[in-house]
Amino acid sequence: MGFLEQLLSSDFMPHGFCYLWDPRIVWLHVISDGLIALSYFCIPVVLFYFIRKSRDLPFSRIFWMFGTFILACGTTHLMEVWNVWHGSYLVAGVIKAITATVSVITVAALVQLAPKIISLPERMHLREVNGGLEREIAERKRAEEALKESLATSETALRELANQKFALDQHAIVAVTDIEGTITYANDKFCTISQYSREELIGQNHRILNSGYHSKEFFQQMYHTIANGQVWRGEMRNRAKDGSIYWVDATIVPFAGADGKPRQYVAIRADITERKRAEEEIRKLNGELERRVEELARSNADLEQFAYIASHDLQEPLRMVAAYTQLLAERYRGRLDENADKFIGYASEGALRMQSLIQDLLAFSRVGRNGCVRVDCDAVMEEILLSLGPAIEESGAVVTRGTLPAVWANRSQMTQVLQNLIGNAIKFRGQEPPLISVQAEKTGEQWLFRVSDNGIGIPLEHAENIFVVFQRLHTRAEYPGNGIGLAICKKIVEHCGGRIWVESLAGRGSVFKFTMPCDVAADTGLAASPATE
Ligand code: ADP
Repeated sequence: MGFLEQLLSSDFMPHGFCYLWDPRIVWLHVISDGLIALSYFCIPVVLFYFIRKSRDLPFSRIFWMFGTFILACGTTHLMEVWNVWHGSYLVAGVIKAITATVSVITVAALVQLAPKIISLPERMHLREVNGGLEREIAERKRAEEALKESLATSETALRELANQKFALDQHAIVAVTDIEGTITYANDKFCTISQYSREELIGQNHRILNSGYHSKEFFQQMYHTIANGQVWRGEMRNRAKDGSIYWVDATIVPFAGADGKPRQYVAIRADITERKRAEEEIRKLNGELERRVEELARSNADLEQFAYIASHDLQEPLRMVAAYTQLLAERYRGRLDENADKFIGYASEGALRMQSLIQDLLAFSRVGRNGCVRVDCDAVMEEILLSLGPAIEESGAVVTRGTLPAVWANRSQMTQVLQNLIGNAIKFRGQEPPLISVQAEKTGEQWLFRVSDNGIGIPLEHAENIFVVFQRLHTRAEYPGNGIGLAICKKIVEHCGGRIWVESLAGRGSVFKFTMPCDVAADTGLAASPATE
């Protein structure tokens, strides 16, 4: 405590006395020393800020020392100002001594540092080189990383490629040939299907599989395509080692070399032998079917022609037989014995019946496809009811009908169909008076007609054969008729592109159903005609 008081004591005469308190001298010194002190205090601040900012500043310690030294110098000047009025020369001396010590240390450090400072440019250069090297190393490291990454990518790609090749080998027959067609690679499937071992295939020309089935042009076209760098696709018939034949669906892909010309061909094939076999089978069956259809059509046409000619040509001699048996009956009745009269009667009745059969047959054979027009079935029904009037009256039949449509047909044939069906419904009635209903409803592109009755019905097992010519379920004595009416109906309906059938049970009445096209020829394949009935 005593030392500090002694240190700060102002027992000495202030410096102002030396200046005789001449204000000009006093203020000249005070302002000058003040400004020097202020500047000296500012310089270290700037220096310390500079050191902090420039982290890689060389010799930063000497800068610290400079800063301290200047700070101390500033303080000595501040003391000068103080001592103008106070005379604390001890403090001023101590500060000067500190400043002197700092300045000596700084000079010593500077002297020690001098060689280093002189060699600074060289060091700077070395540092620069070092920096370059470091950059280069970093660059190389980056390149190495990139290389590693690309190696990893390549490895993944290679693995994927191997997987794909494996999958391909499981499915397809794969072969690689050079541009001459010499096999350079064959996978297992290729060996299996061709029955050659890999050793037997490699080095051989692909021609060893040629079955001789394809033409020279076929192969020329194939080689032309792949030689021009284009993919060829096609089916090929090959011969295996044991001579058996197999079919492949092939895709041949050419791969070009650096010169852009094909270097090798990769062929990927699928075994289609089974499919080819099935196709061949179907082709054969189709051919056979077509042949049979043609045969059937021919024999049908022949039959129709025969029926027409036979019935037409038989009419004349039959007329003669009928006429002369009639004459015999008239002239010789009662003049010969009893048996003769009976026999002549049978002969004449047989001739008449044959005439009626032949006429029916002729009518049947005349049913054709010609003359289709738009037929108004309502009008047709009116006509039928008129012509069947006596039979309806006699049987007490009640005929009901819905609104009937117009159909594409031959008018007289359409009349024949409805008349046969209604006539049968009257003829094959039961105990009750016949109740007959004629209806039609549209089903898609067709009209479905329904002719139902409450008659004797038809056993299920005869539902089909009643539509065959001359097929009857009763004797003529029970119900008159030749058994051709429904056959004619069937032929007419089918010629119009429709279908006819019966739904019935014995004793329960019958429902005859048939379909007819709604409109013009497009539906039926018939010749279109703008005419209407
Ligand atoms: P037909 O009337 O001259 O006998 P069809 O060809 O018209 O010849 O008929 C064939 C057979 O079908 C008939 O003999 C008869 O047995 C049976 N049939 C046809 N229509 C009916 C019907 N509505 N009810 C019962 N049976 C029928």
